[in-house]
Amino acid sequence: MAYVVTDPCRGVKDKSCIEVCPVDCFIEGEDQLFIIPDLCINCGNCESVCPVSAIFADEDVPAKWVHYIELNRTESDRLLAAK
Ligand code: SF4
Repeated sequence: MAYVVTDPCRGVKDKSCIEVCPVDCFIEGEDQLFIIPDLCINCGNCESVCPVSAIFADEDVPAKWVHYIELNRTESDRLLAAK
C-alpha cells in the first residue's frame, strides 16, 4: 500500500505535501508531483494538507483515476533514473 497523487495536482503542484512528508518520498514531474511508492510509510500526512484533494491511499483512489497508481510508480522510477 502507498499513497498516490492523482489528476487534481496537474498544473497545480502546491507542494504542501512535500513539507509534511517524514520520509521525503515526493518527486516533482513536469505537470504534477508523484509519490515514490516503495518509500511511502502510509502516514497520511499529505492527504489532509493537499489543497486540491489530489492525494489518496491507493485503495481509495476514485475509479476514474485508478491508472494514477501505476503512473506514480512508473513516473517516479523514470524521474529518479534521470537524476
Ligand atoms: Fe509521505 Fe506519509 Fe504521504 Fe506517504 S502518506 S507520501 S509517507 S506524507
